Amino acid sequence: MDRIYLCLAHMSGKEQDFIKEAFDTNWVVPMGPNVNAFEKDLEHFVNEVESEESITKDQSLKTNSQLAPLKLKQVSILNSQLDKKVVCLSAGTAAVHLALLACGVEAGDEVLVQSFTFCASSHPITYLGATPVFVDSERESWNMDPDLLEEAIKDRIAKTGKTPKAIIPVALYGMPYQIDRIMEIADRYGIPVIEDAAEGLGSRFKGQVLGTFGKYGVLSFNGNKMITTSGGGALICDNEKDKNEILFYATQARESYPYYQHEHIGYNYRMSNICAGIGRGQMTVIDEHIVHHKHVQELYCELLKDVKGIKMHCNPGPDYDSNFWLCTCTLDPELKVKGQENAYKEVITGAVGGAAGVTHAASTAVTDCQPNTNVEAMRVALDAANIEARPLWKPMHKQPVYKNAPAYTNGVSESLFAVGLCLPAGPYVTDDHVRYIVNAIKSAII
Ligand SMILES: *Cc1c(COP(=O)(O)O)cnc(C)c1O
Repeated sequence: MDRIYLCLAHMSGKEQDFIKEAFDTNWVVPMGPNVNAFEKDLEHFVNEVESEESITKDQSLKTNSQLAPLKLKQVSILNSQLDKKVVCLSAGTAAVHLALLACGVEAGDEVLVQSFTFCASSHPITYLGATPVFVDSERESWNMDPDLLEEAIKDRIAKTGKTPKAIIPVALYGMPYQIDRIMEIADRYGIPVIEDAAEGLGSRFKGQVLGTFGKYGVLSFNGNKMITTSGGGALICDNEKDKNEILFYATQARESYPYYQHEHIGYNYRMSNICAGIGRGQMTVIDEHIVHHKHVQELYCELLKDVKGIKMHCNPGPDYDSNFWLCTCTLDPELKVKGQENAYKEVITGAVGGAAGVTHAASTAVTDCQPNTNVEAMRVALDAANIEARPLWKPMHKQPVYKNAPAYTNGVSESLFAVGLCLPAGPYVTDDHVRYIVNAIKSAII
């Protein structure tokens, strides 16, 4: 069996046509027809709301021979009710950075951010000299706990005399956050919401696409996300005016003079026309990708439902419609896994998951906050069976780099981190792969 990865990029075949067009028309720059067209495609995608009254009809998606067989489901006819605008950028991280800038975040300010996330949600806060204030999760969605959010707002105002400048909930692994409650609280205190939907492209809450509820919505097209442009991201904005302001800062903040005149600090964050060509090709398969991720999730649930001690993380209610970018499960602490007595005995070399780039060598085999030994043993067992699995993201308030940041915690993200594991998902994961993975999980259990 070839190695099964967490989430591999899958091309439609159309990407190269759009790239060729960019070369043929000499648009090999960070702007151009592909960027504009990709933005239009994304606007069309995010503005469609699933209407409750809409009739369901068979979805006639073409099956690509490279793809695993799709079990097609019924989807609703979509009604366009929103008019959001989208700016394409060089990365999702750049989108977070510019959204914070546009919310007026400055040195000395505070920003409330979900602790249970990937570092790209919070690092840009520090780029601006501001302080992240971490908010823990609730158990249902694993995302920002609205009660704790309000407690944090009140306490920050009491302690600092200032209102936090923005709130960043995160659609972890694609799962929607309790956006209705979060928006209600944010509006009550007049704080803008920046939705980090980098992992949740196409996930919906009450039929509406994530990233379209708040003032800004972050998307990522990194190599392992729901769709890819090799690297890239986008910011969903309320209107043309906000979009233009983001564009101004994404292109070095230049004033209209015959020479370079600068009155603000800008960034070189615009997406290239080549990357946008890939994005346009990807938009032709985005619906198939989402259907496939959901199908893989369903199959895991079906095959693991009778396995004691393993629980899949599922939509907590009818309002939630996760894209299941990654499928995740939790292991009962009592579950005995082969080899768990040897977990964490050796210092790991290289990044788990083989992420691109350079990692510093680990200085210790253990830290004060890590997954349980049965989880690590399961990861090692799956790895030996050529299956990539990864622990859940370690909460930011437990990261050494953020040890001085204020945090409002309830133990939820830390306890999930101790027991959780991400399993392979995405277009290349076939039904046979899922059966193989589930069998590998069962064989690792004592
Ligand atoms: C991937 C990701 C980002 C950033 O996206 P990049 O395109 O990789 O910069 C932001 N937030 C979360 C939660 C992510 O997973």
